[in-house]
Amino acid sequence: MSLSEEQNVSTVRRPHIEPGRLFIDGEWREADAKGRRDVIDPSTGKVLTTVAEADDSDLDAAVAAARKAFDESGWAQLPGRERARILNRAGDIIRRRADELVATESANVGKPVSLCRAVDVATAAEEYEYCAALAQTVEGSTRQIPIPSHAYTRREPLGVVGAITPFNFPLILSSSKIAPALAAGNTVVHKPAEETPLSALLMAEILTEAGVPNGVLNVVTGSGSVVGEALLRHPGIDKVAFTGSTKIGRHAAAIAGEALKPVTMELGGNAAHIVFEDADLEKAIGAAIKGFVFNTGQFCMGGPRLLVHSSLYDAVVGALSGAVPGVPVGDPFDPATVVGPMAGERHLAKVEEYVRIAKEDGGRIVAGGERLDLGGGYYFQPTVIADLGNDSRAVQEEIFGPVLTVQSFDTEDEAVAMANSTPYGLASGLQTKDVARAHRVAARLQAGIVWVNDWAMLDPAIPFGGVKQSGFGREYGPEALEAYTKVKSVVISLA
Ligand code: NAD
Repeated sequence: MSLSEEQNVSTVRRPHIEPGRLFIDGEWREADAKGRRDVIDPSTGKVLTTVAEADDSDLDAAVAAARKAFDESGWAQLPGRERARILNRAGDIIRRRADELVATESANVGKPVSLCRAVDVATAAEEYEYCAALAQTVEGSTRQIPIPSHAYTRREPLGVVGAITPFNFPLILSSSKIAPALAAGNTVVHKPAEETPLSALLMAEILTEAGVPNGVLNVVTGSGSVVGEALLRHPGIDKVAFTGSTKIGRHAAAIAGEALKPVTMELGGNAAHIVFEDADLEKAIGAAIKGFVFNTGQFCMGGPRLLVHSSLYDAVVGALSGAVPGVPVGDPFDPATVVGPMAGERHLAKVEEYVRIAKEDGGRIVAGGERLDLGGGYYFQPTVIADLGNDSRAVQEEIFGPVLTVQSFDTEDEAVAMANSTPYGLASGLQTKDVARAHRVAARLQAGIVWVNDWAMLDPAIPFGGVKQSGFGREYGPEALEAYTKVKSVVISLA
């Protein structure tokens, strides 16, 4: 897909979406208990469609189907090259059905269609294609040992993977689990977020069309507390791949730990973005705005904490207060929109609460600060808050909305200490023209990824994941395969 195709959203229309069902063993079915859940359009607050509400018995059926497919479908034994063909086809179909995916994801999450096409749908296609290449590298190596033997390692799939994903990047974060899991020969039970399950159902169709056998991918929609909990506790799940909040991640890791089950944990973030005194100011301000409005600030790797050298502080705060009110906020289906609604009422209420806390703590609102009434929906103005102390909860905790706090520092040591002062460690970044400083500070920042002189440079080839309370394990890159395989050693006596 060329860049121009990726960015063309003129053909995307607000969709009519049929009610969704569960996808188990290659079949679409209602939940056993016939439960249904409303899916809300965040741009209006009205019901978009409904999906099946699974419970434990549906989860049992999905795990049984995934187990049977792992044991009997031949998927795990298929040469990597054959699995690669299927994953490449999935990438092709995602591109062919891009309009439909963009329309569904935008309607469900409130993502601006231009962002959704250029980022969410393009990245999902690239992830399947990248993992198609990885599928051909699932191999072991021979080892030399000082006894007469032939010793080698085999890299084998783990079995049934339980994937739990959050509301904010449904398509990307399901692809970042399902694609490497399938590449390595695993089967999958996917539980998407309750608010944003729709693209997961489309992906079940797409992977089936690509040739993934029945039972290899199963999708169960439903609540975290019922079907998510059942997935975590199910003895038939061999590995849990979780992305979500640190609070639920800690709970999930504890359950998996009790069962000694491998997990990857992609959790919350609260990144610092440092602007040093030698930064290119125009670029730095552009990156700072991108870092906090991208995906309406519902971005684990967003840059909600801007740390600015004291010599530039007033200039940066002034520039942000001038530029941020001009960021286009509105209907996700308007190609000019940069910031859409928040994905749900609970997210909007949380942002309002943190803005209130920031004001109480002496924060100065220099842009935004209020809900936006656009005739319904969950809109919040992109908001910039200056002058907060580092111990304010609005600085230390994850707000997860279009809110930027701006603080000042005097020395490199102080900037690094402030950047590392929260419990999180997912992303971090800095703006400088000094190459030595870029490497020096990148090495000192406690984060899974560090960006220099831009923000949000992500690609399926670059591993990402957290340190500290942001989790452990890596998605993307060749490292992702390690999370979905186990190594077996074979030693054959030649005596
Ligand atoms: P969440 O933790 O509320 O929910 C995540 C998933 O867990 C959902 O599917 C939910 O249904 C499920 N869940 C909830 N309770 C459960 C339980 N008891 N057992 C099993 N599953 C349960 O997170 P959210 O609000 O959907 O997403 C936002 C959070 O995700 C933020 O903290 C954000 O930083 C984080 N996030 C992290 C990354 C990353 O890559 N590190 C990426 C995106 C989002």
